[in-house]
Amino acid sequence: MLNTRSEVHIDQNGQNGHNPNGWPFDRLQTTLPADASVGDAFTAKIDAVWQRVESAKEDDYYYYLQPVDEIDGAWVWTQGQRKLMFATYSYLGLLKHPRIVAAAAVALEKYGAGTHGVRLLGGTLDLHVKLEQSIAAFAGREDAIAYSTGYVTNLATISALVGRGDWVISDKWNHASIVDGCLLAQGEFKRFRHNDMADLERVLQQAPANAGKLIVADAVFSMDGDIFDLPAAVALARRYGARLMIDEAHSLGVLGATGHGIEEHFNLPGVIDIKMGTLSKTIPGIGGYIAGDRKLINFLRHTARAFIFSAALPPPVAAAIIEAFAVIEDEGVARNQTLTRNVDYFIKGLKAAGFDTGLTCTPIVPIMVGTEKRALTMTKFCQDNGVFVLPVLPPAVPEGMARLRANVTAAHTLEDIQFALDVFVRAGQAVGVI
Ligand code: PMP
Repeated sequence: MLNTRSEVHIDQNGQNGHNPNGWPFDRLQTTLPADASVGDAFTAKIDAVWQRVESAKEDDYYYYLQPVDEIDGAWVWTQGQRKLMFATYSYLGLLKHPRIVAAAAVALEKYGAGTHGVRLLGGTLDLHVKLEQSIAAFAGREDAIAYSTGYVTNLATISALVGRGDWVISDKWNHASIVDGCLLAQGEFKRFRHNDMADLERVLQQAPANAGKLIVADAVFSMDGDIFDLPAAVALARRYGARLMIDEAHSLGVLGATGHGIEEHFNLPGVIDIKMGTLSKTIPGIGGYIAGDRKLINFLRHTARAFIFSAALPPPVAAAIIEAFAVIEDEGVARNQTLTRNVDYFIKGLKAAGFDTGLTCTPIVPIMVGTEKRALTMTKFCQDNGVFVLPVLPPAVPEGMARLRANVTAAHTLEDIQFALDVFVRAGQAVGVI
């Protein structure tokens, strides 16, 4: 077990619920060893993580950082074994899409692998301009800005916008990158209970009338797969003069009949003020973006520190992303239908077998197992039997709510999903979850 051998205290930052910002190896306390000759104050926490990882490896429960050598549709080869991938964010199955691969190859040949540096100075290529125009068009907004990762996008945007005297109001289950952006911002950082609009209103009522107010939430929550209550949040944002920022990391390509995200899902086009997304999940690249009105984007281009002080996206990646948005416009409907069929089949199959899949109705499917021990044992069973899946353990989720998190994609066939269901059922029976 990951926890048993570690004596080191882990700060559980999410007392009342999830802490998606948590991680089994995170936030270890630094204590100066009694015998200072054995090291400095950092030694204890560095050693604690070392011991924890070693102990998990000895127990054969360590599945992090598993290198994939080959990708074959929904299947991968890793360390000599062929496994069905259920730990992927490639929701529409666009990894290795021939049009996207070809676009990257052309850009590599034309521009090389890197750029002259940061976008604001010499790093901007015509490709970056086209990329941002493609994102703006896809998102239905005036303009867009692309950053080097999704994580950095949240960090840079929230901290640029929310200054002293402003309030940022964040759902308690938001992703770590949002939490870290709020922590970096100079304004007041407030949280509301997960997807609880009465609690959001309570917080909004406390904010000074003239303070800048930013409400921020994931569209689809990354640990549970449930969907943010956009209609109610929009109404509250309008009533209290707040701006609404939504992270579409797990909804782009996934929600809405054409995969355009949460606004399409609720039939509320244009209601999000600050539309954030990642370019590393449905879009097979790296990077993140904000789409919005042109003055907001201009503000970010000239104030967001991670944009100003960090290098431009590499040309092959920028070209791949442009093509990926075009592919979604062309193939999104069909791929989205396959995805929806697969998600329904998988969730129904799990429920019929007696599993608890929590609140999900999206490709992020938590398979609740309770204890960390069960989650680790089931992970090992699945990995040994050809399903690549990973556990989510406290403190990322509350004690007793450990789970496997299985991601369904459009690349899975129904036979693939049936194969995985059979393995999950045998794993669940082996540990007594079902
Ligand atoms: N937001 C959410 C909701 C995420 O789940 C993630 C990544 N898992 C990110 C932002 C960060 O995106 P990236 O991995 O592209 O940096």
